[in-house]
Amino acid sequence: SIAFLNNEYLPLHEARISPMDRGFLFGDGIYEVIPTHEGKPVGLSAHFKRMADGLSAINIPNPFDAAQWQDIVTTLTQRNAAALDTPYIGIYLHVSRGVEPQRHHTYGNDIKPTVFGYGFAMPSPPETRCEDVKGLHVALNNDLRWQRCHIKSTSLLGNVMHYQQGIEEGKSETILINQNGEVTEAASCNVFAVINNQIVTPPLDHQLLPGITRQLVIDSLGKESVIVRERAITRQELLSAEEVWLTSSSKEITPVLSIDGHQIADGQPGKVWERCLNIYNRYKFIL
Ligand code: PLP
Repeated sequence: SIAFLNNEYLPLHEARISPMDRGFLFGDGIYEVIPTHEGKPVGLSAHFKRMADGLSAINIPNPFDAAQWQDIVTTLTQRNAAALDTPYIGIYLHVSRGVEPQRHHTYGNDIKPTVFGYGFAMPSPPETRCEDVKGLHVALNNDLRWQRCHIKSTSLLGNVMHYQQGIEEGKSETILINQNGEVTEAASCNVFAVINNQIVTPPLDHQLLPGITRQLVIDSLGKESVIVRERAITRQELLSAEEVWLTSSSKEITPVLSIDGHQIADGQPGKVWERCLNIYNRYKFIL
């Protein structure tokens, strides 16, 4: 892979940071993952906006404007597509608060952010027909993360532990339930369900990441007058839903076939999913 580190492009294996970087010591930073297909990014301006919001929320000055970020994404996309020989390149961007001479919880004001990015080969997007798609079997667990899940922080230990637990149970993701018995999100995805013929997803608040794919799904369906209701989903509703989907930049919209060993409906990808993924695919590069 080709990386970007503090204004320089270099092979990933040559990139070096200080162990005194607060990203390393505290997970003190913000990141983004931007999917690209044949050189075209999905949701680019929304990703930049979310990064700007996250940096502002944790008081790190944004080192670049949108045009400069775009230039970095374009360069990383082109160079990594050539190096990795795939049309599906994910661009990881990361801004940490930077390096200080001493390790303190508090930080000074004159610290210079560390900017890192690199490109990686993404899985190809999900198949678009029920007959072809491979759905997911996922775990279910109590959400034990912090109260600021709307910030796309590099401090991901809570998500890592939930995700890993699912993998160790032989599942491919973990859906999380808050103390009120409601779905928040999954360890690295947002959750949608079809309940009584309505498409629903939890409303945005501090309990979940405002996923770019989640918003693109809502907006593209809206273009075709398909309504998504943003409302709480209880654990019981989730398990008895007609369909459940996970959304993320790498999974796009992927159907869930079982949760914690409970089969969802007939255990097959659903027709609402198929229709919605096809609508999403018509709009994802233009919204
Ligand atoms: N929720 C969490 C916790 C995530 O880490 C991610 C992305 O990796 C998502 C949701 C989906 O967000 P997006 O659609 O922007 O990739």
